[in-house]
Amino acid sequence: FRSLSFPTTTRPNFFRFNFRIRTMASHIVGYPRMGPKRELKFALESFWDGKSSAEELQKVAADLRSSIWKQMADAGIKYIPSNTFSYYDQVLDTTAMLGAVPPRYSWNGVEIGFDVYFSMARGNASVPAMEMTKWFDTNYHYIVPELGPDVKFSYASHKAVTEFKEAKALGVDTVPVLVGPVSYLLLSKPAKGVEKSFSLLSLIDKILPVYKEVVSELKAAGATWIQFDEPTLVMDLDSHKLQAFTHAYSELESALSGLNILVETYFADIPAEAYKTLTALKGVTGFGFDLVRGSNTLDLINWWIPFRQISFCWSDKIVVSTSCSLLHTAVDLVNETKLDKEIKSWLAFAAQKVVEVDALAKALSGNKDEAFFSANAAAQASRKASPRVTNEAVQKAAAALKGSDHRRATNVSARLDAQQKKLNLPILPTTTIGSFPQTMELRKVRREYKAKKISEEEYVKAIKEEINKVVKLQEGLDIDVLVHGEPERNDMVEYFGEQLSGFAFTVNGWVQSYGSRCVKPPIIYGDVSRPKAMTVFWSSVAQSMTQRPMKGMLTGPVTILNWSFVRNDQPRFETCYQIALAIKDEVEDLEKAGINVIQIDEAALREGLPLRKSEQAFYLEWAVHSFRITNCGIKDATQIHTHMCYSNFNDIIHSIIDMDADVITIENSRSDEKLLSVFREGVKYGAGIGPGVYDIHSPRIPSTEEIADRINKMLAVLETNILWVNPDCGLKTRKYPEVKPALSNMVAAAKLLRTQL
Ligand code: GLN
Ligand code: ZN
Repeated sequence: FRSLSFPTTTRPNFFRFNFRIRTMASHIVGYPRMGPKRELKFALESFWDGKSSAEELQKVAADLRSSIWKQMADAGIKYIPSNTFSYYDQVLDTTAMLGAVPPRYSWNGVEIGFDVYFSMARGNASVPAMEMTKWFDTNYHYIVPELGPDVKFSYASHKAVTEFKEAKALGVDTVPVLVGPVSYLLLSKPAKGVEKSFSLLSLIDKILPVYKEVVSELKAAGATWIQFDEPTLVMDLDSHKLQAFTHAYSELESALSGLNILVETYFADIPAEAYKTLTALKGVTGFGFDLVRGSNTLDLINWWIPFRQISFCWSDKIVVSTSCSLLHTAVDLVNETKLDKEIKSWLAFAAQKVVEVDALAKALSGNKDEAFFSANAAAQASRKASPRVTNEAVQKAAAALKGSDHRRATNVSARLDAQQKKLNLPILPTTTIGSFPQTMELRKVRREYKAKKISEEEYVKAIKEEINKVVKLQEGLDIDVLVHGEPERNDMVEYFGEQLSGFAFTVNGWVQSYGSRCVKPPIIYGDVSRPKAMTVFWSSVAQSMTQRPMKGMLTGPVTILNWSFVRNDQPRFETCYQIALAIKDEVEDLEKAGINVIQIDEAALREGLPLRKSEQAFYLEWAVHSFRITNCGIKDATQIHTHMCYSNFNDIIHSIIDMDADVITIENSRSDEKLLSVFREGVKYGAGIGPGVYDIHSPRIPSTEEIADRINKMLAVLETNILWVNPDCGLKTRKYPEVKPALSNMVAAAKLLRTQL
């Protein structure tokens, strides 16, 4: 569940102002909930494990909320959000607010408590959880509401009001934040069994009464502003969907009267049509725009409200804010005790951004904190001049790549022939995706080596033993193309980031991914280069243990980029090209070391796809180009595999083919049918395809018959000579007692079918 594009952690370059205006307020869209040291995570998990009480969990949560409010108030923020805290997810909170609990959770209709709430989030002994999906193009995942024509909505969670009152009691006036009614419906899915013709938006008049109740209760509690988050407005919405906004807000108008209403958008430029709809909404007093992700919105604003007019008449109507919720960035730089001082001075996490937003607002009101701004300027200058950021040779090499083409010399069929001569594989060749189970002992060995508790010699010996075990296991199972099992890797991005220049790592730079789960993305602060080979030693060790082909195992440039915080002082594609050049060196070194099959994982290629259709082609172009750069210089007989952790790429299949890999392994366990059309395209292309034959996310052991059945279905569409047999993804989250029989059945199924073909 790690994914995409984190907003930058680097500090904004404060622009120079040539006009002065009377007052300018500051606002924060939202704030991380986990706490600076993931306090909420530990409190949640302890509660779930039955090790602590609901009261203890509530206490941790209340302490976190109060410290966040206090911190923003101390910083001088005028519009401080409330209800951006969540025990799991803000969309699930909205589902609770609306009483839209799917019937399988047998809710009794009273105020929703932890029981029902966490059952929806995580499932319980008898009922599975609700589905979770990515929140726009962030790494955050929300719980997808399941709605149908029969859902009876009712006001079932008073959380927004309770939190508003809680802040007020602490002396902090806040802006309660609600997921807007239209975005809520657009982010939902039809419940199982609901007719195809059912339109989610048809529920708008059923949910608005609940919104009205919430609003009037907030008003009674003393709220003067309410923020409705309507981020779907930045998507390519048709006029029918845009009309839903017009309809919803005019329905709400009377309920909203006497209140200031802010409709917040984020994550992209807002399309012109949506801008018109938004700014014409009834009852709305303020609009939030993301001016970081694009510049078209600013043009729209300038066009509608001439800039000159802004500085004279609108001066007190502009609010300085974060571009989106700070939920998607790390919490507090103060806790980064191990980060290099200079690099630290270039960064800002959520707590720092709050202070910066306020400093900007004050400066724009003519009240500039000179010391603060000159410190910022000094940090910017040191970053610009630092030799750790700029590597001329890398800059030059990467710049030369744009607009050029990089492809292997021969086409895929000719290459596959050359490879087959060397590898001599049976039809339906078997392989795995890379990692083998990560045992407790293995984690301990890595930890102790990092902490210098064991020597390098001891570490190398332990890892070699592990590789040997994995190699012998695969030989015993009679797998055709082996892997070394990745025992030396903690994480497929961190492992490479740690060995590349231009990357920094944090101790507490966690970002919520879903529920209590967080990721700690590397920070790319400078030009990327590879001081020395990263995987050649272990791959060579592994190859020396067997006569069978051993796959070299690399993470691709696009995935490294998409799972990191990316520097903001150059376009993303430039950073990606730099990583591609580093991986290219590694690919070529592996080839020289006698590794004939190299897998370059691009697990996150699809995740980087921009939200707006108009930007997708450009992204795919440089992303796919980056991948090709990594292996354009190798021999025909060296086989390049790539792996992707999803199969919904109907819309990007041509880009996948354009990657020009020799073999593509993909996740497949949950969407056989959808994949068929993809296969058909793939067949025309001619590369090897390995759709996962069983689901590695489940501990269930698939039988030989079941796997053979799956392969047979694939053979109905694919030609025998291009089909590979492999699991869905890496095996690191599984245990050996599951992996051994599952792989044994997988090989048996392949062998069975070979005799029948
Ligand atoms: N090679 C990696 C592994 O097997 C791939 C992981 C992934 O696709 N997320 O662990
Ligand atoms: Zn995968």
